[in-house]
Amino acid sequence: MKKVRFGKTELMVSEIAFGGIPIMRVPKADAVKLVRETIGLGINFIDTAHVYADSEEKIGEAIKGLRREDIVIASKSTADDKKTFEEDLALSLKRLGLDYIDIYQLHNVGSQARRDAVFAPRGAYEGLLEAIETRKVRFPAFSSHNIPLAIEIMKGGKFAAVQIPFNYIDRDAEREIIPLAKELDMGFIAMKPMGGGLLEDAGLSFRYLMQYENIVPDPGIEKIEEIREIAGIVEQNRPLTAGDRKEIERLRAEFGPSWCHRCDYCQPCPRDIPISSILPAKSMVKRFTPERAQAMLGCAIEKARTCLECGDCMTRCPYNLEIPKLLKESKRQIARHLPK
Ligand code: SF4
Ligand code: SF4
Repeated sequence: MKKVRFGKTELMVSEIAFGGIPIMRVPKADAVKLVRETIGLGINFIDTAHVYADSEEKIGEAIKGLRREDIVIASKSTADDKKTFEEDLALSLKRLGLDYIDIYQLHNVGSQARRDAVFAPRGAYEGLLEAIETRKVRFPAFSSHNIPLAIEIMKGGKFAAVQIPFNYIDRDAEREIIPLAKELDMGFIAMKPMGGGLLEDAGLSFRYLMQYENIVPDPGIEKIEEIREIAGIVEQNRPLTAGDRKEIERLRAEFGPSWCHRCDYCQPCPRDIPISSILPAKSMVKRFTPERAQAMLGCAIEKARTCLECGDCMTRCPYNLEIPKLLKESKRQIARHLPK
């Protein structure tokens, strides 16, 4: 697979990365095999996080014995303060079995409060700078769902790379972030390139994304067939067809107005309703057997039944979604797929 320059880091990375969330659900031996086969396809860029359960450990096992310079590892810490950051990084290094991580991201810097905490004296950013001095990390980065805040942080010039959701429905990054990343020569990782599993047609998703020369999509991968299909599409390098564009317009009209970005800014809910798991699930549930749907969504639906319709969540949703109404619709549609 073709390698591209990842902004000012000068790292040469594959045109797509391997997103390490779904391997949390895969038995260790299978996950190790999956990561090794992915690397065999020419994908040298692997993204994980401290909080993705045993994802780092499985990746660490898979990359054992490889030449370190042949692989680019990105991970993340959710820490606000320096001490916790140092603990997170030490654990990431241990789990991955590495002396250094190429790109370490301050994870989900999505609110003013978190931004203020990480940049405060003795905050996580100080820890990140020290980690670069001591060569435990090569390049500083951050991830966010909050576009205005991400723009502000990017302009501050402290980071070499950024990770933001981007796909043909979730296009908030298109207008300012992607051009700004280019102008500042920052690496750009496109989070949720298939809408976190909602956009089923990989061809459409990746032909759309590959129009942008300075982005690296980071699909979460659970099965080797998925990454093989995506790698094939990327290597074919076919432009979007007129039919693709028409289909994208149709899906934007269908999903657009009620698209949940899974940012979780609507939380906390007094009833602990996992809003971002339920709203998008109505489109995914058709693909599951009733038993799998029950296992994945049964508890969430029970919680959704306790919704007080207080509207607190709506005051925090940056996308103005009518959450109680959408919850009801999702509940109805999901319930149809659960075992009778
Ligand atoms: S409206 Fe329902 S989902 Fe939203 S905060 Fe209130 S109880 Fe939670
Ligand atoms: S409902 Fe709104 S705030 Fe909550 S996860 Fe979805 S987009 Fe984000």
